[in-house]
Amino acid sequence: HSGPATLVDTARHHAAHRPDTAAVLCEGRTLTYAELHTGGNRVAHALRAAGAAPGARVAYLGKESEHYYEILFGCAKSETVLVPVNWRLTPDEVGHILQDSGSEVLFLEEEFAGVLDRLPGAPPKTVVRLGATGDYPAWKARHPGTEPPSAAGPGTPVAQLYTSGTTGLPKGVVLAHRSFFAIRDALTGAGLDWIDWRPGDVALIGIPGFHIGGLWWATQNLNAGVTVVAMRAFTPRGAIDLIRDQGVTTACVVPAMLRMMVREPGVSRDDFATLRKIVYGGSPISEALLEESLALFGGEFAQIYGLTETGNTAVCLPPADHVPGHPRMKAAGRPYPGVRCKVVDEEGRELPPGTPGEICLATPAHMVEYWGLPERTAETLRDGWIHTGDAGYLDEDGYVFIRDRIKDVILVAGENVYPAEIENVLERHPGVADAVVVGAPDERWGEQVRAFVVPAPGRRPAPGELHRFLAERIAAFKLPARYEFIDRVPRNPSGKILRRELRDRFWTDTERKVN
Ligand code: ATP
Repeated sequence: HSGPATLVDTARHHAAHRPDTAAVLCEGRTLTYAELHTGGNRVAHALRAAGAAPGARVAYLGKESEHYYEILFGCAKSETVLVPVNWRLTPDEVGHILQDSGSEVLFLEEEFAGVLDRLPGAPPKTVVRLGATGDYPAWKARHPGTEPPSAAGPGTPVAQLYTSGTTGLPKGVVLAHRSFFAIRDALTGAGLDWIDWRPGDVALIGIPGFHIGGLWWATQNLNAGVTVVAMRAFTPRGAIDLIRDQGVTTACVVPAMLRMMVREPGVSRDDFATLRKIVYGGSPISEALLEESLALFGGEFAQIYGLTETGNTAVCLPPADHVPGHPRMKAAGRPYPGVRCKVVDEEGRELPPGTPGEICLATPAHMVEYWGLPERTAETLRDGWIHTGDAGYLDEDGYVFIRDRIKDVILVAGENVYPAEIENVLERHPGVADAVVVGAPDERWGEQVRAFVVPAPGRRPAPGELHRFLAERIAAFKLPARYEFIDRVPRNPSGKILRRELRDRFWTDTERKVN
């Protein structure tokens, strides 16, 4: 493949070929490809002038904006590494990331300026402020818009993302340029339309840019030279309005976002008339939600599965496999060309199709390392295989079926119970809007299943009714011992259920508290 191989090439290429095309739209502002290129060049010069040498870490604490992408390209062009920080974190958590990454520069949005005074340690030596009163425009304007010399290649680190920590203390996943090109190259080479880009596409990024899903989707679209619509922060009404007003053609969302859009009052298929493809993934989706979404949106659907460690998606369920009622609708998909998938037991032995174990992925997009954690890197990345920590199996045709995270599996009398399976069935009950299942200690069986249910508006099904509903559909050992009603399921910004928040109160010792 002879196209751009680094983000540095991407910016130069599109500035030459489509300078006036909008690269990023955000709240009525437009950044063209020419501006992305020259703005990125200025940021790169300014970073170097601030003392950030190749390999230096550069943090960004803020929401989605055109500046975020300009800074990403500025990092790429100066061979520094962007560390996007989740703006929902506490000052202590932000402090951990700044310190762990050793960030020398911090780009800080006005809205989060208060964090600076409450950091546990010293802030990075250079702080550049974004926003109405910020010094960012003047800071970069002092430097030329010409392209700085760069030795960046496909293997040069460009981003360091902290996994959201649903399973423990956040680790910095180092990704090189190749992580943002491998899947596109595989799809282009194979001529597959699993996920495709067309001239004139307008892509909505629903997933935050500090998360691999958002960053991956943005870079794919910028690599393709189409227009990206950045949302400051996702709301279902905001997304629906943007899709209509900006003529959005493709969108990448997590299942929790689909759920919110489907449930938004007054929503109809007309709202999505321009939308031709919806890419979704990042957490398990219930069949009920997938079927509802297919009926509402009308466009093509592609599911993606992957981890920050695999450079996002490694597996895709293409549009053609989205057939309601077909067993493949329960699959996460099949590996892209050039990606391999295997399922292993606890000793690392490969298991035959149909047998559940740990899913492992070998992908050219895989991470470089966990920053500063060689032992954790060696545990997760073995001989080119990323050990995902996800439980699942392969079918005879190579489709991947994910059951749940291994750490979330509930062990009832020696039998594995997968929370996602029970949540799936619960969600089919008309009185249930959302549900989450966790394990609690049980004297007799080791663990027992506990269900938390968000009732559908205006309904509150009796626990006995839910129990009978489940009993008709799943084995007795999987049935919840108790049902509790809650107002909402705790989820992180990338839509993952924060099971710990519901689970930890049942466990007095550290036994079940993962990591
Ligand atoms: P942490 O690993 O600290 O919990 P995180 O959850 O944010 O952080 P990610 O890399 O964003 O880490 O998430 C990867 C995980 O998301 C996968 O291991 C898998 O459990 C889940 N996941 C991603 N895509 C899918 C999918 N299509 N179906 C089911 N689960 C998915």
